[in-house]
Formats: sequence, C-alpha cells, structure tokens
Amino acid sequence: MPGYELIGKEELDEIKEIFNNGGILFRHGFDNLRGNTYKVKEFEKKFSQEIPSNHCLAVTSGTAALRVALSALELQPDDEIITQAFTFVATVEAIIESRARPVCANIDNTLNLCPQDFRNRITNKTKAVIVVHMLGVPARLDEIKSICDEHNITLIEDTAWGCGGSFQNIKLGTYGDIGTFSFDFAKTITTGEGGMISFKDEVLFKKAAAWHDHGHENNPMVPRWEDTRSSSGFNYRMMELQGAVGLAQLKKLSFVVDAQRKNRDLIVNELKTIKKIVFREIPKDSFDTADALVFFVDSNSVAKKCRDSLLKIGISTKILPEAYTWHFAGTWNHMKELSDSHNNDLINDLKKSHEILSRSVAIPINVKMDAGMEKEIFKAISTVII
Ligand SMILES: *Cc1c(COP(=O)(O)O)cnc(C)c1O
Repeated sequence: MPGYELIGKEELDEIKEIFNNGGILFRHGFDNLRGNTYKVKEFEKKFSQEIPSNHCLAVTSGTAALRVALSALELQPDDEIITQAFTFVATVEAIIESRARPVCANIDNTLNLCPQDFRNRITNKTKAVIVVHMLGVPARLDEIKSICDEHNITLIEDTAWGCGGSFQNIKLGTYGDIGTFSFDFAKTITTGEGGMISFKDEVLFKKAAAWHDHGHENNPMVPRWEDTRSSSGFNYRMMELQGAVGLAQLKKLSFVVDAQRKNRDLIVNELKTIKKIVFREIPKDSFDTADALVFFVDSNSVAKKCRDSLLKIGISTKILPEAYTWHFAGTWNHMKELSDSHNNDLINDLKKSHEILSRSVAIPINVKMDAGMEKEIFKAISTVII
C-alpha cells in the first residue's frame, strides 16, 4: 500500500519552501513573486526522469489523468474504447465522460486484460484500449501491444497501482502510447489527490496539456492573458502544494516498492505451503509493485471465510472479496452507457471474470509490517483452508 505510511518531514519541508518564497500556489506565472519556485513543473520533470518519458503532465487525480489522456485522441461519439472488467469505476467513467462508448473485456488469471477476449471485442470503431495493471501486476503488455499495432489502436496504461513497476525492463506507463498514474491516498506514492500522464508522442502531449488548462497553449511569445488556443478544454491543473508533496514522495518510490516486495515474499513463503491455494499469475519478465497479494480459493464462500478469519486478527483484505462491486464491471448496471454496450446483461457477458474474481482473496501489503505478521496470516488462512 503505500506513500501515506511515509508522509512526514520531507513533504513538509517541500511545502515550506513554497511559503518561504512568496506562497504562490498556482503552477503558472507570478514569476517575480515566487523566487523561482515551480513545484508542479519540477515534479513533472523529476517524474519524467524517473519513468523515463519525455513528456509528463501533472493533473488533479488519477481519474482526471484518464480523462485528460483521452482528450488528446479527438474521439467521436460512436468511437469505442475497450478496458478490462476488473478495474476501478474511474476507468469506465473517464470513457463515458469523453463521450465515447465503453466496452469491457474479460480478465484472465493475471486479473488483468485477457488478450484473446480483447481481440474478440475489437470492432472497426475501436480507437483505444485502457489496460490496467491491477494491484501492481503488469498486464500482458507484449501480446496486447501487438494486437493494438495490428488494428491501429492506441494503447493506454492505467498505471494507478503500477507506479514503479516494469515489464521486460520497461517502466509501466511507458510501454504503450500513454500512461496514467494516480497519487490518491491509497496509491504507491501520494499527493493526497493527484495524477500524472506520460506520453510517447509530443503532439498528443501538447493537445492534452492545452485541454487540461482551458485550451491554454502556454505560448512563450505572449503573456498568459493573450495566450493562443486551438480548442476548448477544462481545468484539471495540479496545484503547487500537491507538486511539493509529490517531489518528496517520488524520492521514496523505490524504497516503497522494494519494501512491499520484501513483505510480500515473506507472506508468500508462508502461504505457499497450503496446497489448496493458487496464486495469481504474474506474466514472465514482470517487476510488480506488490501492492497486494492475491490468491484463488475454491469458492466465494471460502474467500469470505478467509476475510473473516483475517479480520479476527486485525488484518483486512483489499478489494477482494469485500469491495468487488466497485471494481468489477459485471455489477455496473448504474452505468447505462456501459450496460448498453453489453446487451444490458453485463454479468452474463463478463461471466469469466466473475468466476475468477468471486473466488479471489487479496491481502494488502504495507511498507511497515509488524515482525511475524506473515505467520499470523498463515495461521488465519490455514484454519479456513484444510
Ligand atoms: C485509484 C484508481 C484510479 C483513480 O485515481 P484517483 O486518483 O483516485 O482519481 C483510476 N484507475 C484505477 C485502476 C485506480 O485504482
């Protein structure tokens, strides 16, 4: 889990620097009042070095990152965008907000997009796919990318859980055309609320940057009030306080990921002795962020028993099985646009995902784990699975 465990002096010091230099909280302008302090710009630059990507744009949330990313594609109302059945509602909401048609494909045992089902759902209207590296495990990016190349489909990676992970030594969020990141309070690094987008292509980056700022092109030849513009837009600008926190958190990213992976390994070493447990599949050549440890049991009732047993020792599960309805598209009948794309029978159309998710258990992995916790978890699970 994450950044919020490590919020402290470093973040405060970054914020103090803003106030020591005039307290300018807006990312643009006020140049003579801010002592050369531009936290959001600096955060974008440092993030782009870390990922690495030439073009990074900071925004107000991970949801905004998805919406702003889609603004660059100039979508038409009939265009279709495919994403996976196991994600957070935000991924589909961003597609609906972009006035495109959302379509969900099934997941496989990686709990991410099933390449075969993705292929089956492509039509001549499909413009983009949003793969999600759910709970920090990379999607099957190589297979998915080659399908995208074949059909001229833009590959977007929702990297909300995958910041700091990689696939075939390429950082998550930079394998495809566009990567989106979330810095909400439950993600690997946090700015309270916040997000980032990385772009391969400079033209797409410039379109999105203008759109997230009411169409402002930030033309260096003119002052902001005379700025040039080519389209309307909206406001998804990150503010300086978030940028400051992000700079401090970014320095902790590799520590967070390493600590999570270590703690995950401790728990895996205990649980792997339980024969009836099957772990979630992790694609070859993945470096996952170990945000959570997911395993499959025989049935939904056993999954619920695992949760109850863990709760008794003060450990919660994460999303699976308890918060399944916020993360499984088969239950999203409240989204008319999505339901329409699935013959108003979402659950039936996404049966395969339901079958996998309903017998999954996810244990959250923290940076700070009490000594011996892995043994406690083993005890709680092994009393239920015999
Ligand atoms: C958290 C999350 C988002 C949204 O990010 P926010 O910063 O909370 O808006 C989008 N997609 C996925 C998969 C997420 O987990």
